[in-house]
Amino acid sequence: MTGREPAVVRREDLRADCSACFGLCCVALPFARSADFARDKPAGRACGHLRDDFGCGIHARLRDEGYRGCTVFDCFGAGQKVSQVTFGGTDWRRSPESASAMFAVFPVMRQLHELLAYAAEALELPAARPLHRELCRALARIEELTRGDADSVVRLDVNALRGEVNPLLLRASELTRARVPGRRKDHRGADLMGARLSGTNLRGASLRGALLVGADLRGADLRDADLIGADLRDADLSGADLTGALFLTQAQLNAARGDTATTLPPSLERPAHWAREGSAGGVVGA
Ligand code: SF4
Repeated sequence: MTGREPAVVRREDLRADCSACFGLCCVALPFARSADFARDKPAGRACGHLRDDFGCGIHARLRDEGYRGCTVFDCFGAGQKVSQVTFGGTDWRRSPESASAMFAVFPVMRQLHELLAYAAEALELPAARPLHRELCRALARIEELTRGDADSVVRLDVNALRGEVNPLLLRASELTRARVPGRRKDHRGADLMGARLSGTNLRGASLRGALLVGADLRGADLRDADLIGADLRDADLSGADLTGALFLTQAQLNAARGDTATTLPPSLERPAHWAREGSAGGVVGA
């Protein structure tokens, strides 16, 4: 990859700012009636709860109203990028002729921003210092691509980009976890659905892409574990220690359960619902 200095990539730009977005996740994406969504909605049609100001009319009650799926979605700042940069601040209501292009760009931009977020995190890992030059180039290159026009973004081969960035993320993870003393478990891609892992030493483990739905991780030592892409829906993280967990996202936490004794990396917030009900809560809609 070639590119510019990555100073243009700021961590805050990789967090959803619903106030600067035209409710794109609530329009562009489809959802099917299920335990996560109270109703069906096709792609390109606005959710009935989307307000005129693009906020969510039931934001404070999403889980109670049957929209848990909305609470575990994270656009990594793609919504505001598409709204304010790609389409220059003109929304799909005022400019309906641009709506379909805007809705097509959004899911691609989300994938680009997710890659940016992981690369930016890797860049902050002290052990990954030998990779900084490559990570900086990757960041600059992807950021440049996110600033292309709608047609160029839609045409991007995101899988190819991911294939370039993933080896860097993997090496950053390995360099970091190599500093963890003792034997590190490798559960990469493992099916650990409903597994009883309470109190287990998973420090420095690879849980990349692991299926941990409903797993009992109470009191587990997950310090410095790599959780990129791990499915943590309804996993119980009560009392678990996630200090230094790698590539853990807010959406993953929101999908899991936990409590006040769960130790989190400083960049992530304790989901509000953990205290009141012990299961998942919100990202979308101001
Ligand atoms: S966040 Fe609110 S407006 Fe958006 S899709 Fe979910 S329920 Fe609808």
